[in-house]
Amino acid sequence: MSSKPIRPVNVEDKLHFPTFRRLPEENDIDLTYYEERGFGYSPAVHWCLLVEIVEVIPWIRPMFNVKDLEGHKFLVAFHLDNNEEVASMNIRVGRTMSISHAHQHQFADGQVGIRLEDASSVKSFNCDLASFMKIGEDLKKQSSLCPVCNKSAELHCSSCTLRYCSKECQVADWKSKHKKVCGAGQQIMAWGKFNWKRFDFDRVL
Ligand SMILES: [Zn+2]
Ligand SMILES: [Zn+2]
Repeated sequence: MSSKPIRPVNVEDKLHFPTFRRLPEENDIDLTYYEERGFGYSPAVHWCLLVEIVEVIPWIRPMFNVKDLEGHKFLVAFHLDNNEEVASMNIRVGRTMSISHAHQHQFADGQVGIRLEDASSVKSFNCDLASFMKIGEDLKKQSSLCPVCNKSAELHCSSCTLRYCSKECQVADWKSKHKKVCGAGQQIMAWGKFNWKRFDFDRVL
């Protein structure tokens, strides 16, 4: 067995999980996220924006109105050669989407949102943003008590590691809510293994 338990990433961390207002602007060098390297600037750390889909805009390109943790609403527009990848992510109203290395973009009509030319920076989760944050909090607590009945937890979800007292409680929680947030939990654990403090272009979140 591995010795050191893997910690979930802290999704409350505003440096690595900034809200829209704190994102770097596309045409500016934001020294929170960039550093001088060689003859120019390179990203210094990794960051990831978390949003909930508010509206799917019917258009030839995939476009969504979204809101962040502050309730700020803005447009996310994909400009891709092939929209298959976005279609396969099943992005729907009420689901959470993560966008790594997002920048604020000013569209031609003056509104500020996010323009994406690469779908690989995006992930979609089967739960709303509040539930996404809640599973992050539950995993961070690493409670030794079962979230269903508060008895001592001996088992854990083999996918995301959330702990339970018994198979019965695990099954009950799966049916009532864990089924929707387990995927988010797995991502939060996977991000926990990731080095957010050193940026290099080879690694994707
Ligand atoms: Zn229990
Ligand atoms: Zn799970």
